[in-house]
Amino acid sequence: LRVEMQKSEKLMIISELAASVAHEVRNPLTVVRGFIQLFQRAEDIKNKEYLELVLTELDRAEHIISDYLNLARPQMEKKEQFCLSNLLDEMSTIMSSFAAMQGVYLQTEIQKDIYMVGNHAKLKQAIMNIVKNGVEAVGDQKGYLKVKAYQKGDEAVVTVKDSGVGMDKEQLARLGQPYYSLKEKGTGLGLMVTFSIIQAHQGKIAYKSEKGKGTEANITLPILPLDISE
Ligand code: ADP
Ligand code: MG
Repeated sequence: LRVEMQKSEKLMIISELAASVAHEVRNPLTVVRGFIQLFQRAEDIKNKEYLELVLTELDRAEHIISDYLNLARPQMEKKEQFCLSNLLDEMSTIMSSFAAMQGVYLQTEIQKDIYMVGNHAKLKQAIMNIVKNGVEAVGDQKGYLKVKAYQKGDEAVVTVKDSGVGMDKEQLARLGQPYYSLKEKGTGLGLMVTFSIIQAHQGKIAYKSEKGKGTEANITLPILPLDISE
């Protein structure tokens, strides 16, 4: 027990430190972005290309910062009742353009009127991380990603299935470990944050995967009995 306490205290200090650094770095980045957008109006084509590159790298820096900031934020600041079906529809709309850009076809099969209690923004972020990984796993190959949701007894089930690169046993076992990433530009923080959000909602997540075939994430979340959710 003592060892675990020390570990979590250490993680808390590290994540608080990371968040304050991330916060400090965000402001100058915003200023830099503004100036670059101004410069982009310049005539010089070559310079324009360079500026595009600078903006892309700024985007990447901003993504890393958000990942670190999310790490330190408490997982359940605000609890509210919301419609999980609507959350998934919104999320799919946002992600389908991201998917389409990479040639991935996003399918949905979402049952209506699944209500639950929790933190809407956090849960959306958690599911978005899973979907984003799925799209990235398909990458340049032609493939699909399917998001399904339905109610089963007093639980909501959400599955996210992709036809991407898949994972072997060792890779599966490492999911959610901080800094575990096989991507050239990954932070390896996405699933760590995702798992802790799902846990804070008393939910469960399980992964099934086959190398070269694809992956399925299966999330179950407790929902309210109907009379309370009215
Ligand atoms: P990141 O996306 O920044 O690499 P994540 O925590 O989101 O960090 O994911 C960690 C790693 O788990 C990824 O780099 C990838 O190797 C693996 N992974 C996650 N989801 C999938 C998936 N759907 N298919 C294949 N590999 C995956
Ligand atoms: Mg990720």
